[in-house]
Amino acid sequence: MAKQTASTWSDATRAVHSGEPRHGLNVPVTTPVVRTSNFNFADTAELKRFAEGKSSAYLYTRYGNPTLAAAEAKLADLEHAEAALVTASGTAAISSALLAALESGDEVIATRQIYGGSFNFFRDTLPRFGIRTHFVETSLEGVDRLVNEKTRVLYVESPANPTLQLVDLKKAAGLAHKHKLISMVDSTFGSPVLQKPLDVGFDLVLHSATKYLAGHSDIVAGVVAGSRARVARVREMMICLGGSMDPDAGYLLIRGLKTLELRVHRQSSTALELARFLEHHPKIARVHYPGLASHPDHRLARRQMSGGFGGMLAFDVKGGLPGARRFCDRVRIFLLAASLGGVESLIVLPIYTSHHRMGTAELEAAGISPGMVRMSVGLEDAHDLIADVRQALS
Ligand SMILES: *Cc1c(COP(=O)(O)O)cnc(C)c1O
Repeated sequence: MAKQTASTWSDATRAVHSGEPRHGLNVPVTTPVVRTSNFNFADTAELKRFAEGKSSAYLYTRYGNPTLAAAEAKLADLEHAEAALVTASGTAAISSALLAALESGDEVIATRQIYGGSFNFFRDTLPRFGIRTHFVETSLEGVDRLVNEKTRVLYVESPANPTLQLVDLKKAAGLAHKHKLISMVDSTFGSPVLQKPLDVGFDLVLHSATKYLAGHSDIVAGVVAGSRARVARVREMMICLGGSMDPDAGYLLIRGLKTLELRVHRQSSTALELARFLEHHPKIARVHYPGLASHPDHRLARRQMSGGFGGMLAFDVKGGLPGARRFCDRVRIFLLAASLGGVESLIVLPIYTSHHRMGTAELEAAGISPGMVRMSVGLEDAHDLIADVRQALS
């Protein structure tokens, strides 16, 4: 039998093991939590070498920590990246990546269908530093016309929260390349199990690791992955802004990654069953799930996602907000809670949670209706979940 090398390992194997061989060594099977804020230096000569950038020693956990480095190595592997950076939240990953790339006077082109917090950052925060954002649809129509000498970044999210619209990632990366823009994608909903944006030419992939990557609703965390040089710049900005991950969260993230593939595949198949059930229910106006043939991006989803279409879906209840609220107040297994990607199935009304700071016109433009329910499918039995939805709609 051929000897397995790191490069021949499957993603599932990479998620369980870090790249380091441990055979023949009496070492822990799991990654130790290096719970310290700082590190001892052998002598001033080592300290001097560190200051000169010639030492790989650890100084201080905000700059780096062995537990976090182990998480970063696994995440880089999973995203087919040269390097990865873990952060205190997905928001810290997104803000650090953007602020590392932008300066006053620059412009961004971003899709309108993005996580509410990211939308707020573009709309409210960046303009205070002289950075303007032009919003486009997921079709990316008009990008060519909007690009000028100030444009620096193309930012997309796919599948989009909460409408599950897709961006053609290959097309987006191609457009960014053509105009020499830095391309960034929030791949939280897809996870590295279903799509690898760096493989189609993206510069940086971002995640709220709070969601699928960690997967158990017990930490808030973020990830940035890309080339060594780009991730180093984001790390510098993260160190400056202070959004570093705690080593305990790093441990839980590593632990979550070990079952990532199993979880996402199971959640995807249950989500497809639920989407099919909902699509034929008389009280449902519309189901948004890329795995359904009726979804406008279904063909694109088949092309750019593999192994499933994810554990997230959304649907519009007939009767608008009152109908949606009645449904949410009647479910027994689904929990009415924000966030997503954990083992428990959740439902939420985006207008009251992830997108509550968007105005009526902005919500409409993003395709979010008041009666839209967002569903994060967990690991419960599919039949139990369908029965719960059926009784809540009856
Ligand atoms: C939750 C979420 C974020 C924000 O991540 P935090 O970990 O909550 O900071 C960003 N993008 C998407 C798509 C999300 O779902």
